[in-house]
Amino acid sequence: MFAKVIIDQDAKALDRVFEYKIPEDLDLNVGARVYVPFGSRVLQGYVIDLNENCEYDEGKLKSIISTLDEQPVIKRELLDLMHFMVKKNHLKYSSTLRLFLPSEMREGRVKELFENFYSLNLDKIDQVSTRAKKQIEAVAYLKENGKTSSAILKEMFGQSAIKALFDKGVLNKEKEQVLRVPSFTKMTQKRVTLNEYQQNAIDSICEDKTYLLHGVTGSGKTEVYMNLIERELADGKNAIMLVPEISLTPQIMSNFKSRFGDLVALLHSGLSAGERYDEWKRLFSGQARIAIGARSAIFAPLDNLGIIIIDEEHEQSYISESNPRYDTHDVAEFRARANKCPLVLGSATPSIDSYQKAKEEAYQLIELPVRANGKEMPIVETIDMMNELRAGNSGMFSNKLLAELVNVVNNKKQAMIFINRRGYSSFMRCRECGYIAKCSDCDVSLVYHREDNRLKCHYCGKQYRVLSRCPKCKSENIKQGAVGTEQVADKLKEMFPQVKVLRMDNDTTSTKNSHQKILEEFKNSKPGILVGTQMIAKGHDFEDVILVGIVDGDQTLYHTDYRSSERTFQLITQVAGRAGRSQAEGKVILQTYSPKHYVYKFASNYDYKGFYRKEINVRATAQFPPYTRIIRILFSDINENNVRELLKICYTEIEKLKAKYGADIIYMDAMKSPIQRVQGKYRYQIMMRLNLPNADAIENDAFEIVDKASKTSVFFEINPQNLS
Ligand code: ADP
Ligand code: ZN
Ligand code: ZN
Repeated sequence: MFAKVIIDQDAKALDRVFEYKIPEDLDLNVGARVYVPFGSRVLQGYVIDLNENCEYDEGKLKSIISTLDEQPVIKRELLDLMHFMVKKNHLKYSSTLRLFLPSEMREGRVKELFENFYSLNLDKIDQVSTRAKKQIEAVAYLKENGKTSSAILKEMFGQSAIKALFDKGVLNKEKEQVLRVPSFTKMTQKRVTLNEYQQNAIDSICEDKTYLLHGVTGSGKTEVYMNLIERELADGKNAIMLVPEISLTPQIMSNFKSRFGDLVALLHSGLSAGERYDEWKRLFSGQARIAIGARSAIFAPLDNLGIIIIDEEHEQSYISESNPRYDTHDVAEFRARANKCPLVLGSATPSIDSYQKAKEEAYQLIELPVRANGKEMPIVETIDMMNELRAGNSGMFSNKLLAELVNVVNNKKQAMIFINRRGYSSFMRCRECGYIAKCSDCDVSLVYHREDNRLKCHYCGKQYRVLSRCPKCKSENIKQGAVGTEQVADKLKEMFPQVKVLRMDNDTTSTKNSHQKILEEFKNSKPGILVGTQMIAKGHDFEDVILVGIVDGDQTLYHTDYRSSERTFQLITQVAGRAGRSQAEGKVILQTYSPKHYVYKFASNYDYKGFYRKEINVRATAQFPPYTRIIRILFSDINENNVRELLKICYTEIEKLKAKYGADIIYMDAMKSPIQRVQGKYRYQIMMRLNLPNADAIENDAFEIVDKASKTSVFFEINPQNLS
């Protein structure tokens, strides 16, 4: 017998399938980790296939040395997935396989946790003195409960009693492995009666296909997910549920833990290495049957899946932007089809891509049009900040927002103030007339680059001088820059010294559990104001939040991405959904310098469909995805000459594809990346925009050219989220 093996090494030259002989006495299965001889070294690898015959010269093949684990660690379905991902995303085998195992396992960093357990030695029980009360109690307890961990016994009956019993030989000691299960505050949960829309969703979602669950904020999607999973468990199947970022949604976690107990395993980066490893093992062994986590949980080692759910499917975090790059939607789709089970994409604001697929009936659309508690959506009031300026208010809060804040404080309620801030980049805007500096070729806003004090277009690379005067109204009051959370929080503290003002952003949440601490503190602060970035936009369910203020809605709108309008619409809808979730009426104050922009018009009416119709037209006219495909090929190297040389060679070759594909290559150019150096490596890129019918073919041809020319990895990004 022969084995096909992938070597667990980063070098590009080693990233292919090698064949080995299998020694007679070695019991080997697909998915096992093995040691193999390689040149003069011994390396680790993964067995991805077994064959009767070999393809190479048998005389030259070496033999596998040994296996690392008793059983294979990668399930068959995931090996199929590996082939799919390698091809689709132009990935390396080794880095793809690593997605399937907890990193702790590869690096051998985590020790399995063992604990002492005691059981009774019945022959020696008469040795216990009738006056040793604690010892008698301990014996009685063990009679009833059987083998018990030393930690529990010592806690219940005291260290000395247990030691005395052990010394007398009354207790037998043995070591056993225990799994670390992350703790979660469970909430007592009342069972709700499903409304007709929820019931309809649950009944409809039962086939081997993809469903888009479009439910307004507060429509009770979580309840639908839990019912679906419950049904599949009862049918003997397993489930995966993805959430954008666990630290932001502790409530969802508690809900699932209370409903499903230890059948739930959590997979996310906030766990300790030991916890993560043990949770993975509980899934692998079948002790846990529901995997919940951020995007990497899509690789959970579960077979026999009955359902896969992606909550908040529009979230960017489902796209891995660092190596290995992949889109969780594709992976989920692959696994769902492999298991012949439904895939559910849930959102109040589906991505334009997904909604278009639903329109074209590639997905089945299911709607939850009303809030589960029967409340109306909060009213959104749009404030024109140019008017405020003209009226002499140049501060960051409109008079209306201030008045509402005073009302919150007087009534001892709560407010959330949202600062729409993504990344570091910012655009240039005239404070007098609202003019925004845009690229003359691309119709996206220019990004200010501090390093060289220039404005740049992130799509074509064109550069512009920083403006000192507005081209439209000639005012000199044209600036780049944005208000930050800290500035806003400080201002609020100054204005409302008696009110608890909390801040949640990247700076205040760098330590473990800091999200939860801030949310906990906010929960208990009445009156209270929580100032934050995107982090406060989703998932939270605070009863006393009656006001949501959006300080500067425009900051994503004039971002440099063709998805800017989509992102802004999503954010405003999500943030607005935080207000008025219980008895009290909620209100949303949306401050903007562009009150007439269609995003605000549709967002303030919660009109997703209207927004979709407008936006999909814009995309069609401007030839942006989903009507075209954008590809960025990113080259990087420590040596700038090398990377320029490689870029030149590749560009010249790829350009020849124009002869073959003609106008299907809508646009193509080579340039420095907007961020020119990362970790000492120079970055250059080729940007392409392709017509869809030939996009796969062009992409594959380009990949082959680049792959042949380059000794190191080059990254292919499809419709990149971020062009830095
Ligand atoms: P979504 O995720 O769609 O924004 P949630 O799942 O957070 O909404 O549900 C919002 C609130 O409605 C939760 O407090 C939930 O317990 C409650 N809820 C869900 N379904 C029902 C129902 N059928 N009847 C009453 N309340 C419900
Ligand atoms: Zn441009
Ligand atoms: Zn102007």
